[in-house]
Amino acid sequence: MDLSDLTRDLDALRREAMTAVAAASDVAALTALEQDILGKKGRLTSVLRGIGALAPEDRPKVGSIANTIRISIEGAIAERGTTLRQGELAGRLRDEAIDVTTPGRPIRRGTLHPINETIAEIAEIFGRFGFVVYEGPEVEDDVRNFQMLNIAPDHPARDLWDTLYVDVEGHLLRTHTSPGQIRVMHQERPPIRALLPGRCFRYEAVDASHASEFFQVEGLMVDEGTTMGDLKGLLEEFAKAMYGGDKRTRFRPGYYPFTEPSVAFDVECIVCGGSGCPACSRSGWMTILGAGMVHPVVLQYGGLDPERYQGFAFGMGVERIANLRHRVGDLRLYMENDLRFLEQFT
Ligand SMILES: [Zn+2]
Repeated sequence: MDLSDLTRDLDALRREAMTAVAAASDVAALTALEQDILGKKGRLTSVLRGIGALAPEDRPKVGSIANTIRISIEGAIAERGTTLRQGELAGRLRDEAIDVTTPGRPIRRGTLHPINETIAEIAEIFGRFGFVVYEGPEVEDDVRNFQMLNIAPDHPARDLWDTLYVDVEGHLLRTHTSPGQIRVMHQERPPIRALLPGRCFRYEAVDASHASEFFQVEGLMVDEGTTMGDLKGLLEEFAKAMYGGDKRTRFRPGYYPFTEPSVAFDVECIVCGGSGCPACSRSGWMTILGAGMVHPVVLQYGGLDPERYQGFAFGMGVERIANLRHRVGDLRLYMENDLRFLEQFT
């Protein structure tokens, strides 16, 4: 090998390298190419191994040529690298672009269950008259659920309130929210204005109009000089707020062991307006709750002197109120947690 052979090989390597650098398609390929040509075990080094066979005076010339070639290849690699990195950066910016003007994904908001929504509305209306919400336990004892409400163990009215018994100690799933009256009277001193919403239970075969679980809202007012007129005025205001101001209302005689006298409170049928339809059994009226003056015996069980204090109480089925508001025909829908039903209430 002589000087011209080596010079030719170096020049061939330079041209090949320049072509390859220009053709490198990404930074990784360029880095590999740089290693292949200029690396410690690269092709430029291996060509220069032939330098030992040259005459001593030729060696510096080859060294100089090789150095020039190295510098030009390095320059080409650096330039190509800059171009490729800019291209890759632009590509990433394009691929990872975030359109800050895109509208956000809407957060799915739930809605109140129609029963809770109805309870909230009832509580809001009575709240305007100073009634405060209390809660009683769903597992009650026989004494508060029945006996202190003037329903003795052998009282025939118990047939109306057959329930599920929890154990032999006389605990049961409460059949109404009325035991809350006793709890509030033990807890507060008059004047009392309490609203007691909650879940109740009956031993009942379930169908479209009967449920073994249902909700009631109980109301209790106790003060000196409370009268039936106060009760009637309050309930009329409630009916106006709930069903509109033009609805007629009426009291009918009713019976509950824990109130005396007792009444059923009717509102003019909200379907037919009073002319009579299947929804109101052609009577033109719908019963929305039961009420009455608190029986003196119940006041006594509540620790209050019936000579000094009088009170009234009322209780309504929340499903019935919700049915009338939303025209729901089947009680079971409230308990089935079917979103196709629940999503209709916003
Ligand atoms: Zn009607």
